[in-house]
Amino acid sequence: MSVDPITSNLKHAVKASLSKVRERIERACAEAGRPEESVNLLAVSKTKPVAAVVAAREEGQEHFGENYLQDALVKVANLEDVIWHFIGAIQSNKTKPIAESFSYVHTVSSLKVARRLNNQRPDHLPPLKIFLQVNIDGDGNKAGLTPAELPEFAAAVFELDRLNIQGLMTLPTQTSSLENQRKPFRALRELQETCLPTCKELSMGMSGDLEAAILEGATWVRIGTDIFGARER
Ligand SMILES: *Cc1c(COP(=O)(O)O)cnc(C)c1O
Repeated sequence: MSVDPITSNLKHAVKASLSKVRERIERACAEAGRPEESVNLLAVSKTKPVAAVVAAREEGQEHFGENYLQDALVKVANLEDVIWHFIGAIQSNKTKPIAESFSYVHTVSSLKVARRLNNQRPDHLPPLKIFLQVNIDGDGNKAGLTPAELPEFAAAVFELDRLNIQGLMTLPTQTSSLENQRKPFRALRELQETCLPTCKELSMGMSGDLEAAILEGATWVRIGTDIFGARER
């Protein structure tokens, strides 16, 4: 049987970059004095083909994140044995397929969306695991709750029994120095410790700042570019 060279290249590229990312996580955990198992890797496959997900899955990667619902649903339908996370902006009229097809949602910051996800989560599935998205650096263009809004919002979401709050998620403005990268991550952790002490997961850190996030307590890092290569959109 002949092997498609593109597939073989893709497979090798994904394997090599995935192992580099795993090494970075390992090193950052060592530096932070944290066990390696305390950090979960979410492979962000948005805009990438099904074959890229398959290549990573074959290397043992289980959790994948998607931002664009239509693309994601094609992948969900074509792949078994993958745990899907929705990490994109949520339009409230698109909640049903999210509630039906994903195990985790990282981007909940509206009560309307939360209530719809709760009502639409199918009975045969466990409660949907969610993160509350916080706009930690107060960037006016970004989605997310303000820290001041968080306590009341969380109290309302705790009432929804088909949703299971994992913790907080943030997407800070990109910056290059480690010290500046750490500030918003530290602020998110402090907010979690103060407002949501029982929900300890922190979804923070991407390709450019995963070390800073792990030093500040990230339990999920969301990595796209450094696993699958640059995106065209
Ligand atoms: C695209 C995206 C990522 C991955 O970013 P990279 O810089 O490619 O690693 C992580 N989180 C969210 C919410 C994203 O939209």
